[in-house]
Amino acid sequence: MNAYQDAAGSAIQATAAAPSPLPWSHGFAELGPAFFSAVEPQPLSAPRWVARSARLAAALGLSDDWFESEQSLQAFSGNRVLPGTRPLASVYSGHQFGVWAGQLGDGRALLLGDLPDAQGERQEIQLKGAGLTPYSRSGDGRAVLRSSIREFLCSEAMAALGIPSSRALCIIGSATGVRRETMETAAVVTRVAPSFIRFGHFEHFSYQEQHGDGPAHAQLRWLADQVIARHYPQCLHSEVFPGNPYAALLQAVSERTARLMAQWQAVGFCHGVMNTDNMSVLGLTLDYGPFQFLDAFDPAHICNHSDTQGRYAFQRQPNVAYWNLHCLAQALLPLIGEHDQAIAALASYKTVFPEALQQHMRAKLGLSDALAEDLEMIDSLMKLLAQDGVDYTIFWRRLSHWVAAMNGNDSVRDLFIDRASIDAWLQRYALRIAAQDPTQTSGSMLGSNPKFVLRNHLVETAIQKAKSGDHGEVATLLALLESPFDEHPGYDDYASFPPAWASSLEISCSS
Ligand code: AMP
Ligand code: MG
Repeated sequence: MNAYQDAAGSAIQATAAAPSPLPWSHGFAELGPAFFSAVEPQPLSAPRWVARSARLAAALGLSDDWFESEQSLQAFSGNRVLPGTRPLASVYSGHQFGVWAGQLGDGRALLLGDLPDAQGERQEIQLKGAGLTPYSRSGDGRAVLRSSIREFLCSEAMAALGIPSSRALCIIGSATGVRRETMETAAVVTRVAPSFIRFGHFEHFSYQEQHGDGPAHAQLRWLADQVIARHYPQCLHSEVFPGNPYAALLQAVSERTARLMAQWQAVGFCHGVMNTDNMSVLGLTLDYGPFQFLDAFDPAHICNHSDTQGRYAFQRQPNVAYWNLHCLAQALLPLIGEHDQAIAALASYKTVFPEALQQHMRAKLGLSDALAEDLEMIDSLMKLLAQDGVDYTIFWRRLSHWVAAMNGNDSVRDLFIDRASIDAWLQRYALRIAAQDPTQTSGSMLGSNPKFVLRNHLVETAIQKAKSGDHGEVATLLALLESPFDEHPGYDDYASFPPAWASSLEISCSS
């Protein structure tokens, strides 16, 4: 046992001995005390490294020496409060599974403050699983090792796929026991994002001020003004909504959300818990729980075992996001004023989403230009993939190689049961790209269709090994997923079909 393990469970002390070289600032705290509670993290017993993202650490200007040090381990486990940080839990509300849930808030996440990234942009640093907060409700403020590994790997995988996401800097495991369905151990993931503000933050202050007796929506307005100033300054000069920055904000969030949904659908990502408190106002993928990258293509796939109604099924995600944007619109309505303006701001979702999705699908197909009939060709392909339950990622990767060889390569048709239909489709597709250079087309498709995605069975294997103290598999997956479009010779097993046991994995909200 080392000195820090002895200290676990005792009062938290600031590390006076080692002055922080880090330039912390506190953008969120500047919103004022109505928006958060100051909370100190609760220590973990026997903290140990499970994984670190050297790439993200470098982007945040953390030196290798410091990031790998005992001081960093103690800081990111929540056992020591780093000088310069001001840990806080923010308050928000939200709609969960379509129902108003009232106040939620950071029940197990603590924001430490902001650090500048390589571009000088402020990134918020958050500990997830660092103990109880005033918003923990009946929870224990903890996150288990398995869900922390899932969040860490998927955050970094999404970023490397070019999909906006909160990032993950490291995971620290511990000997602290937490009860879920069985006893498990607690871990802390350090998350990073320009802002963790959710639709639910706006809903919270809108609802509260509708039912309180304070000045009319002063906090809601302040929150919106600050989000606009920091993240959407263009809304102050909107040509579509002159003089109404709040309508412009709603439109900007709608567009970012639409683009995010297009990316999720194109890559085959199912989030699983699209409650409004898990929707980022910056259009980031946020709060990784029972997410899944599709194995066999099934539009109706439900990845969350707790989602008995299939509200968050894969094909419903774009409509759910639109529904969630209506909740945001409702929350912003006191600021926007005119109902018509809010409706107009939301309307952009209906054009941006299909356009963005088509663009991604054309890139996946390697099409260098756009024709009206492409839509029908894409549609008929998706029907074939669904009809035969074809592995989504493998299909696109094989198609990318196929275009370089075309005839004499059965790798694509072998994936289908209905060979006649896929043959006819491939013929039509070959004609469509006949004028393009095959090598170039294949090359660009290989940059749009990843070889490696974080399939459930891959992360499950890494979790089982990590539970027995072997973190090597987490590191291997991180290395593959950091460059998912590369071939990584020798690692083909990680890009092959899921084993039979993968379909019996049940991932629920429990985390
Ligand atoms: P989620 O479904 O993970 O987005 O969580 C919904 C709400 O429950 C948020 O307010 C979380 O902070 C809170 N929550 C989830 N798990 C816990 C936990 N173990 N302890 C405290 N709060 C939690
Ligand atoms: Mg959440």
